[in-house]
Amino acid sequence: MIEDAKKIEQTLDKERKFATKLLHFGSEIDSVTGASSVPIYQASTFHHHDIYNPPQHDYSRSGNPTRQALEDYIALLEGGARGFAFASGMAAISTVFMLLSAGDHVIVTEDVYGGTYRLLTTILKRMNIETTFVDMTDLNLVKEALQENTKAVYMETPSNPTLKITDVAAVASWAQDNGLLTLLDNTFMTPYYQRPIEQGVDIVLHSATKFLGGHSDVLAGLAVARTESLGRQIKQLQNGMGTVLAPQESWLLMRGMKTLEARMAHSEKSAAKLANWLNDRADIEAVYYPGLENHPGRAVHESQSSGYGAVISFDVGSGERAKEVLSRVRIPIVAVSLGAVESILSYPAMMSHAAMPHSVRLERGITDGLLRFSVGLEDIDDLISDLNEALS
Ligand SMILES: *Cc1c(COP(=O)(O)O)cnc(C)c1O
Repeated sequence: MIEDAKKIEQTLDKERKFATKLLHFGSEIDSVTGASSVPIYQASTFHHHDIYNPPQHDYSRSGNPTRQALEDYIALLEGGARGFAFASGMAAISTVFMLLSAGDHVIVTEDVYGGTYRLLTTILKRMNIETTFVDMTDLNLVKEALQENTKAVYMETPSNPTLKITDVAAVASWAQDNGLLTLLDNTFMTPYYQRPIEQGVDIVLHSATKFLGGHSDVLAGLAVARTESLGRQIKQLQNGMGTVLAPQESWLLMRGMKTLEARMAHSEKSAAKLANWLNDRADIEAVYYPGLENHPGRAVHESQSSGYGAVISFDVGSGERAKEVLSRVRIPIVAVSLGAVESILSYPAMMSHAAMPHSVRLERGITDGLLRFSVGLEDIDDLISDLNEALS
């Protein structure tokens, strides 16, 4: 890690393009040995050579050089003041929700990630933090949910699994006018395609387990604060709650992140081809992908993102057919999760959204025939012919 501020300035040019920042983020070279990757500081504590001049890091819960490198890295990519790394996406999300207090109210995207839904409706509810879920494709519904005790708005766009789009700048500016904090789960897009802080969002959250890590081998979460002052508050929560990411995992995540642009660009190209192929089939009830001409949120999405990502949901018509497809595909892994080098086919009704009451699930478009395809790096023609066989 480079501790000398001047050296950081020399290495770091914030005006550089995203692909360059992915490789040259300020602490990619060990300042002591010149090693070509950040060392894994597998230590819980740090010796005080001079009791009057304590070391920069004194205990790994409060700060670890490997984790610090990752935290600076994500802050640079999202364009925020400070970054934080957590043991999982849910550790990041739950820790940041602790900015709220008992009696507060939060407005949340209706089809928010299942784990976030569970956190809000069970744990935070018990702590007297109240939630209203709204369809955020309509700004008026967001405005109507405002209460006297509303403190924050929580967005997820595109949403999961039906890929609905929220107008981030519109919600953020309305929230700012009303003194509300804005949070956004940017897992599906990553900072490569979407940088919500540029749209006025206060805190960006990630399940880094997905596209950022990219290899289905590390569980991690990240948060980025737009301002130093919010950063100090999150730091206090991260240290106070101890929800930190370990040094090995921090290193592994950085290893994955270096190839983010190459992976995303490749997967997106394949996803577009797959979405169009599905869209042209008469035996598919619906295809959800923000890159399709007929996607209702496409124009808004294009105004705030530079790409469409690699996740497609589609409805094969019935639960029986969905299960048949799941048992017949041979290339994708059939699993929960997304955003990896290998394609992942999920079944929301029985996996991510199994805990949701049937009626609520249907209301949100998560039908029994809905499948979610996270497109990996395999040859797209192989993926299509595999899916073609599974569908026929
Ligand atoms: C997976 C996921 C999470 C939770 O992250 P974990 O790393 O599994 O804790 C949160 N939000 C979204 C959109 C996700 O896909």
